[in-house]
Amino acid sequence: MSETNTSKQTMQFEAEVSQLLNIVINSLYTDREIFVRELISNASDALEKVRRLQLTDKDNIADPELPLEIRIRVDDKANTFEISDTGVGMTRDEAVRNLGTIAHSGSREFIRALGEDGLDAKDLIGQFGVGFYSAFMVAKKVTVHTRAADPDASPIVWSSTGAGSFEVRESERFPRGTTVTIDLKESEQRFADADEIKTLIKRFSNFVPFPISVGDEQVNTVKPLWTKGASEIGDDELTEFYRFVANAHDEPIYHLQFNADAPLAIRSLLFVPESNLEQFGFARMEHGVSLYCRHVLIQSQAEDLLPDYFRFVRGVVDSEDLPLNISRETMQDSALVAKLRRVLTKRLIKFLAEKADEDADRYGEFFDTFGMFIKEGVASDFDHRNELAKLLRYESSATKPGETTSLGQYVERMPDEQQAIYYISGPNRDAIEAGPYLEALQERGFEVIHCFEGVDDFVFNNLREFDGKPLVSADSADLKLPDDDKKEGESGEQTEQEEDEALDERAAGDLAAWVKNALGEEVGEVKVSKRLVRSPTALVNPDEFMTTGMKRVMQQFDRGGAMPVAQMVLEINPRHAIIKRVDALRRQDKDSGLAKEAARLLLANAQIAAGLIVDPKALMERSTRILEAALGAE
Ligand code: ADP
Ligand code: MG
Repeated sequence: MSETNTSKQTMQFEAEVSQLLNIVINSLYTDREIFVRELISNASDALEKVRRLQLTDKDNIADPELPLEIRIRVDDKANTFEISDTGVGMTRDEAVRNLGTIAHSGSREFIRALGEDGLDAKDLIGQFGVGFYSAFMVAKKVTVHTRAADPDASPIVWSSTGAGSFEVRESERFPRGTTVTIDLKESEQRFADADEIKTLIKRFSNFVPFPISVGDEQVNTVKPLWTKGASEIGDDELTEFYRFVANAHDEPIYHLQFNADAPLAIRSLLFVPESNLEQFGFARMEHGVSLYCRHVLIQSQAEDLLPDYFRFVRGVVDSEDLPLNISRETMQDSALVAKLRRVLTKRLIKFLAEKADEDADRYGEFFDTFGMFIKEGVASDFDHRNELAKLLRYESSATKPGETTSLGQYVERMPDEQQAIYYISGPNRDAIEAGPYLEALQERGFEVIHCFEGVDDFVFNNLREFDGKPLVSADSADLKLPDDDKKEGESGEQTEQEEDEALDERAAGDLAAWVKNALGEEVGEVKVSKRLVRSPTALVNPDEFMTTGMKRVMQQFDRGGAMPVAQMVLEINPRHAIIKRVDALRRQDKDSGLAKEAARLLLANAQIAAGLIVDPKALMERSTRILEAALGAE
């Protein structure tokens, strides 16, 4: 092909691309063959774009008569692999931008993930895919001839050996679309073998909705899987299809084939993946369901099809009721899309509930991985809140460690006199069991849900009740246990002996006032506890919105310390030996320094038990003074 020298340009890759290429070229990655899949998927994307243009702007496409197809040619003598499509192609600017910088989110995640300890390039390439750049795993040189769909665009040639720079120049007449030519490395001759390539296509790209030919033979079956009956679809086919639509490499843990004719015509095939990278702090997942109308892709990764909390779901929804020319903008306010979304959301929730009934262990694994999304749904989707809440799973004081219960099962176990569902948040089971909040409830045989995540408080706060029972945090100041009144009025036989030992009501009240005085602004209020059994003190929370869990989260952002406690209530246990001893001490000596230190240390301990951050230096000084006093080392 001819070229004019003035139009030839050598340009540097973006720094990140060079870094990525280095890794891709030098890693001993074994599944180099995924480059075939990546290039086919790019060709297919480009063809989908033309199909859309044909629907929306059909007078503005170059070479409109070209069939939409992908052709692969290999030459084992020249040792080349070549893939052509009749897709949208690229203008010069687009080629420079798309092939010289990292636009592909998978590649970005890939580079970021490599920064994490212990992660290996060869494990990660498979997981993220590195798109176009995967060609450099097998290439000495990659050449891209491309001609954009815009009738005025000039054809161009892009080429690179992967070493830091690439070249672009204008080329002579070339039909719409893109041809990627790879001069294979000597070691990669197998990709110049037609049979090898056919096998790979059947494995990776069987579901590409455009004909793919190798030489003269068409290799893939173009019929969309979701139009087949459930019994016609094999397991392998399902997994392959999932990998194709999700651009993933794992196995789906669930799949749902959902077809309906009313209120809307829907053919859909949806998947729950195996892993959730968001869980490990990766960027927010993008929606993963593509919307089709009569087998034509309307929008991939359609955001309006499902609520955000179902963004982990992958798959395909085909509805012939949608207008073919619906655009991203009109999607948002289309009543049909809203209806579709309602139907799909309800069906997915019901589906997950069925799966939970069918196999609780497997569902448990699902919830471990994707529970954060269900929680997000409970907190954000008012319409489906109650149904979503049935999908929640938590450990509780009645489960074994690591086992979980649903809120429904919890309610079934509730004794008659129990009015509310109790929960407590803490970093883990040990911390919760060691804390002071369970004892009052356990005394009464009431089960307590364990919440280990910051969001749980928020979720329960939004949910407010389940099955008509209020959800109450076990550390709320106003716990209202059913026999509180009884305890105050008549002292039953059991409590009599305890109360013999306890400080009497007045002494306890005086002590509480003294402790508040000693602690000053450090704590909101000090009260005599009715709930505590074994613990000397507990910090409880009078604010039902700013729960302790929320305070804990806020404290992590603002490592100040004491602030949240200033609005909390310190309960003291009038039956506890330490409390009685503090009372005795402060009576003996009006400005007893030791009793005050003890009160401060008790507050600090209560803070730790509540999972709040305590200033370690002050805490150490305090316990040192207490030790000195206890050991007579002053
Ligand atoms: P991704 O496909 O995820 O966007 P890639 O690295 O595979 O990432 O491709 C980068 C970009 O290059 C694509 O988004 C597209 O704009 C462009 N591109 C790659 N191959 C083709 C092609 N065959 N036809 C048109 N554009 C292409
Ligand atoms: Mg791609």
